[in-house]
Amino acid sequence: MTARIIDGRAIAAEVRAEVARATSDLIARGVVPGLATVLVGEDPPSHVYVRAKRKSCAEVGIKSWDHDLPADKPQDELLELIGELNSDDAVHGILVQLPLPDQLDEQTIVDSVAPTKDADGFHPYNLGRLLAGSPVVAPATPAGIQELLVRSGVETSGAEVVIVGRSNIVGKPMGALMMQKATGANSTVTICHTRTRELADHTRRADILIAAIGQAHAITGDMVAPGAVVIDVGMNRTDAGLVGDVDFEAVKEIAAAITPVPGGVGPMTIAMLLSNVVANTKRALS
Ligand code: NDP
Repeated sequence: MTARIIDGRAIAAEVRAEVARATSDLIARGVVPGLATVLVGEDPPSHVYVRAKRKSCAEVGIKSWDHDLPADKPQDELLELIGELNSDDAVHGILVQLPLPDQLDEQTIVDSVAPTKDADGFHPYNLGRLLAGSPVVAPATPAGIQELLVRSGVETSGAEVVIVGRSNIVGKPMGALMMQKATGANSTVTICHTRTRELADHTRRADILIAAIGQAHAITGDMVAPGAVVIDVGMNRTDAGLVGDVDFEAVKEIAAAITPVPGGVGPMTIAMLLSNVVANTKRALS
């Protein structure tokens, strides 16, 4: 069996078109959704991601402000900038690109963004609301994966979802989303990490396997059950180019459906970020 390819680019284009329509409606009401992006330092992948996010904003009609700061930016100055953005009514979303240079405490910076302007859904208030079952701003990558599953017609209710990775930005919120008593969720969730014993025993139980590990080709063919749906979050730069956490060539012969890298989860993350900005704008008006 060769797996169906879940085309993240096509599904992200659908989401962006919906966001563009919502943006036009808001502009017709006299409000332009706005996203402020903050990039500190010279981390090359971060520059690539932020450039893509800014370009996508322009394409859907969201105004964006670019704050490119030197790598040695002191924490008090960064907090001052975020404070100004928090009180600027034209700004509906604030995105601070992670990771940050060492002199900056990531959690303090994430905490300083007003929850109502959180574009990434990383603020503890928004993570707490997600866990409590009433999400407001959901983290963009997990929300994008859920959207991919729903729009690809994958049944999540009652499904065994196994997530490899427990980061605050992907693994943990992904688990929280899929265990919600809600459409597109209602799954039985297992979260694995480096201390998990017999990892393959867990991954082979998965109806939906989500790999958010950060190691090229860590999920091999023998770790996947025939007919599983495999979502590859990984973005690993290797000599062979950008590759995922899943051995795509081997796993596509076993799985029922699989996301490619690139062209799977990545475009959805950006689409959901835009969607979060528009949702924040609507809430600010209500
Ligand atoms: P982190 O490094 O923060 O977390 C990785 C997680 O994987 C950790 O929980 C770690 O366990 C676990 N892990 C690592 N190695 C193993 C292993 N051999 N077996 C089991 N578990 C393991 O990464 P992120 O969550 O931030 O990102 C994961 C990947 O997704 C990266 O490649 C990143 O580039 C990509 N990414 C892609 C996005 C997109 O839009 N496509 C967005 C965000 C991330 P432990 O906690 O025990 O250390």
